[in-house]
Amino acid sequence: MQEVISTFINIQTLERKMLEAQKVLDEAPEKLESLEGRLSRAKKDFQDLKTSIDNNLTLQKTLEQDLIKLGEMKIGHKARLTKVDDEKTYKAVLKEGETIAKRTKEKEDESLTLMELQDTLTAKLPPLEEALIITQKDYDKEMAEILAAKEKASDFIRKSNEEKDALLSSIEPKLAEQYLYASSMRPGQVMAPIADSTCLICRISIPPQLFIELQRNDKIMLCPNCHRIMYWRDHPAWAPPEEPKDESTLGEDSLMSQKKEIKNKTQDLGEEDWQLQDVGSSKK
Ligand SMILES: [Zn+2]
Repeated sequence: MQEVISTFINIQTLERKMLEAQKVLDEAPEKLESLEGRLSRAKKDFQDLKTSIDNNLTLQKTLEQDLIKLGEMKIGHKARLTKVDDEKTYKAVLKEGETIAKRTKEKEDESLTLMELQDTLTAKLPPLEEALIITQKDYDKEMAEILAAKEKASDFIRKSNEEKDALLSSIEPKLAEQYLYASSMRPGQVMAPIADSTCLICRISIPPQLFIELQRNDKIMLCPNCHRIMYWRDHPAWAPPEEPKDESTLGEDSLMSQKKEIKNKTQDLGEEDWQLQDVGSSKK
């Protein structure tokens, strides 16, 4: 039964890592969307500013044309004023001159305001352009990272599934089924080490009779409280495999090396490993 428990623990370790990998895959679309959003906002800000500058320039050109026309009108007006010979017409032409002067002043003021606005807008362009370049660089970098992480996660899940199938097929089908059922109920949280009659996951004390039965190690037993598969952590003839902590071994572990690990490991399973995910406190 210890061999089976070892295999279960190894499968659970794999499943936990697969869950982490799955999380990477699940989170990827949202990350990509937010990345796209950031870049398109930066592009839009830059484009909007450029459009404002262009529009302003068009307005300025129109104003320049208007001022040229008003200048021509002023010259025409002066010429006419010299030719007028009756007072009534003279007054009317004079009035016309006032209107031309007034409109010229308005257009000049407007032109000045536009020039100032153009200066303000133009000053904003270089920092915004720089921000866009930085955002684009970040985008390229983060996009590559997300895609690489996605590929790594998919790859890991595929390899781990093969590894899991191999581990499952190395034990009795009925036991494998039991494990898979428990795992479907509580993915990655199937196993419960028992020490000193206490479930180290849910911290409940199991009845003495149950503990004695468990110590016989001849069948699969569930914790009466958390319903995980129990195993006697301190079995004298055996130490359960430790969950690998090194991230760099993620996905690289072959079935062979896993099996070797089971045989070689003499260290006890660290209680903290389990409790980190399942319960808050730790008691050795
Ligand atoms: Zn329990």
